[in-house]
Amino acid sequence: MNFYGSYITNLIKELSSLPGIGSKTAQRLAFYIINMPEENAAALSKAIIEAKKNIKYCSVCCNISDSDVCTVCDNLKRDHATIMVVEDPRDMAAYERTKEYKGVYHVLHGAISPMAGIGPEDIHIKELLERIHKKAPKEIIIATNPNVEGEATAMYLSRLIKPLGINVSRIANGVPVGGDLEYVDEVTLSRALEGRRPM
Ligand SMILES: [Zn+2]
Repeated sequence: MNFYGSYITNLIKELSSLPGIGSKTAQRLAFYIINMPEENAAALSKAIIEAKKNIKYCSVCCNISDSDVCTVCDNLKRDHATIMVVEDPRDMAAYERTKEYKGVYHVLHGAISPMAGIGPEDIHIKELLERIHKKAPKEIIIATNPNVEGEATAMYLSRLIKPLGINVSRIANGVPVGGDLEYVDEVTLSRALEGRRPM
């Protein structure tokens, strides 16, 4: 309903398309934005456009990056023979916050989910296999989420990678089942990593 005129109605509509933003929150945000000083509103819209325009994916690990190679892959002090496979850049950020893990990552950008029509070719598995063939790492740690999709993805990867003679391990179940890695605290993540088991 168009109580407010088309400009703010349109802003409310765009905001309510964001995840976790219902129509009430969208209205609250829209009114907050129109009451902002002009330069703050400009900075917000500029940040959105610049992020969208300039975001790159690391050519090595598929993490989100400002440059062709991300800061983790570019760091020679990291152990490049150990690759932790995660679903999302936010999972990688969670492991980085533990400061325990010294290896590198591979970001799948999703998990296999037949229910949602997401197959192995829809996530960055091909890039991982190419990387494994090129670099012959010592260990692949599979840290996909401990839910149905994450477990299916872990099994799929293990079946592909183990025959190549590379150690494949799975993070321990310190992480609650059905939990989202992003929200698990650092201590639990460190324990899950330490307690990883061969697949
Ligand atoms: Zn990278």
